[in-house]
Amino acid sequence: MNNMKMPALFIGHGSPMNVLYDNSYTKHLHKLGKELPLPKAILVVSAHWMTNGTYISASTKPETIYDFYGFPDELFNIIYPCIGSPEIAELIAEKLKDFNVKTDKNYGLDHASWAVLKHMYPDANIPVLEMSIDLNKSFQYHYDVGKALNFLRDEGVLIIGSGNLVHNLRRVDFNDDASPFDWATESDEVFKKLLLEKDIEKLLNPFPVSKSISLAIPTPDHYIPMLYIIGMMKDNDQLSFTHEGIQNGSVSMRCFMIIEQLK
Ligand code: ZN
Repeated sequence: MNNMKMPALFIGHGSPMNVLYDNSYTKHLHKLGKELPLPKAILVVSAHWMTNGTYISASTKPETIYDFYGFPDELFNIIYPCIGSPEIAELIAEKLKDFNVKTDKNYGLDHASWAVLKHMYPDANIPVLEMSIDLNKSFQYHYDVGKALNFLRDEGVLIIGSGNLVHNLRRVDFNDDASPFDWATESDEVFKKLLLEKDIEKLLNPFPVSKSISLAIPTPDHYIPMLYIIGMMKDNDQLSFTHEGIQNGSVSMRCFMIIEQLK
């Protein structure tokens, strides 16, 4: 693993309840945390931090943010006590100045980060930063920012896009054993195929691909973090799915990793 570029991950995070669960999805997160090269820091592009402009969190001690309601008290007692890295935040803002990326000293970690990292790195001993998403920007913009973030992988930073490829909360079934909706399965399969084929053009313009896509992406917030990760993918990089499945009928938990393939 020496001199190897850090892999980059897209993680489908689903319901915050997953932080309390022991299931095939959370087991896979534990496994990733153990098997990946130990990162110097973690940057999470969060589906839950929506801003005007693109921001990087630059807090020294990011607070755990409970950005949901109507869930059991147990969830509101979880703390992810990692540190941040204002230095890496400044480095990113400097390198990505063409995108006018700014730092934010106040923002902590929302559940797109901590509900995942609690399983991957339970000791919270790695600095974590978040990147926001600007919903006013095009899919191409998010892809291009992802491309510009690629240098961090050479610096030992693990980049995680945290969202969901299929995410429709209006259709969600709160029964954890709910059968997937046909359109959810169909869309998830479409994304699987497009990712394997590295069909960037269609991933950047998915709506004409299939009728079910507008149900899969009723709002773009959870799809966008994936665009950052494919932005980092080179032609000879290997893409592999680390987990697949659909929770609550309408949320794809598909996760993937890209790894540099040395020639
Ligand atoms: Zn979410």
